Amino acid sequence: MSEEDETTPPRKAARAEVRLGDTIGFATRAVHAGLNPSLQGTRPTTVPIYTATTFLSHDAQALDGVLAGTQPGYVYGRYANPTLTSLESAMSALLGVDDANTVAFSSGMAALHAALFLCELEPGDTVLAGSELYGASHTMLATLFGQFGVRVRFANMADLASVRAALGEEPTPRAVLFETISNPLIRVADVAGISSAARAVGALTIADTTFTPPPILQPLPLGVDIVVQSATKYIGGHGDVMGGLLTVADPDRVVALRQISKLGGAILGPFEAFLIARGLRTLAIRLERQCENAATLARRLTEHPRIAAVHYPGLVSHPQHTLAETLLTRPYWGAMLALDIKDAAYDDVLRFFDALKLVLPATTLGDIFTEVSYPLMSSHREWSPAQLRRVGITPGIVRVSVGIENIEDIVADFEQALAAIEKPTVTTSQPLAAESE
Ligand SMILES: *Cc1c(COP(=O)(O)O)cnc(C)c1O
Repeated sequence: MSEEDETTPPRKAARAEVRLGDTIGFATRAVHAGLNPSLQGTRPTTVPIYTATTFLSHDAQALDGVLAGTQPGYVYGRYANPTLTSLESAMSALLGVDDANTVAFSSGMAALHAALFLCELEPGDTVLAGSELYGASHTMLATLFGQFGVRVRFANMADLASVRAALGEEPTPRAVLFETISNPLIRVADVAGISSAARAVGALTIADTTFTPPPILQPLPLGVDIVVQSATKYIGGHGDVMGGLLTVADPDRVVALRQISKLGGAILGPFEAFLIARGLRTLAIRLERQCENAATLARRLTEHPRIAAVHYPGLVSHPQHTLAETLLTRPYWGAMLALDIKDAAYDDVLRFFDALKLVLPATTLGDIFTEVSYPLMSSHREWSPAQLRRVGITPGIVRVSVGIENIEDIVADFEQALAAIEKPTVTTSQPLAAESE
């Protein structure tokens, strides 16, 4: 409001209240009374959860202007909502673009779906996708877009030469979809290299940066066109809300993006927006602790006799350690890692999960608690042994999302669970959740 006062002549306040006369009936009074409490010149320190589906303009002329798009303002909840605007502006600020360049969606998948629509794909078009893409993203391309004649070509995004080769094949891809860090082997994509190679052939880049939210990685200065983040993960960060965020580099795409959100209708709810915005306020300090914990856990487990390998970009043994050094903002090496438990078969990993007392077996990531997931049981369940071998996923690979707990407690839990699977145990009926001790 104060901003408006500085830039525009004072206007009447938005039409606030039905003028209630003395003769008005009780039911009418109950419906309309007290709807516009005055803040008495004060301002709340946080953004309210605006649940209103509709916003009133100060007069019909103004409403006409808002609907015509010649005047800013809120009209209907599916078009825009101030609680969402606040979250969208905040993420734009963290990614270094104008407020309007980010739109919030009801999930990461909804944001990704919108990103692909933004590429104006037509039947016969090809999308170049990472070969280790998030399962649902892969399936969405193959089914929802596949049924309209969109084709998918795959490339190993950790190998710039094969990305270039795949971009050079006919037909030239219209879009490139990749994840900054792959699941589950934590391979790092050469974001700048992929973006410039795509640009050279006229393809748009969509980077799914869910594993590397800002400040870990800043995708837009590296040439990415469209940034997609599952806010369900690090940005929300507490395992209690689902959402997605899409940010475009080019302001000329903002109108098309808003149109897709309006018509697709997968908008974020205001309560969810509030929770995600609340999470975002502590993103930097959560990540600081998570990354520090991850680096320590990676180092400690590398030395463990039961661990064959630890995949973590902060370790010099990581194949893209040098690339990660140029992409990731120090001191952040990310908080995702993968362990390869030596000689472990499927059942050994299930026993390992049951033996964990603090760490949660959960098929998500980015939360304040440390969680493990087993690709062979979840994300890569449908993959054939040959496919798994080709990518390098062995039966002992366990993905870890490191939380903010005390690092000694995390390390101790991994160590005791690794010790527990040394000796065969009887099958347990213990649920896959933390035990209270
Ligand atoms: C979780 C996830 C998604 C999907 O996000 P949702 O919020 O579950 O829809 C997409 N990409 C990656 C890398 C993810 O981890």
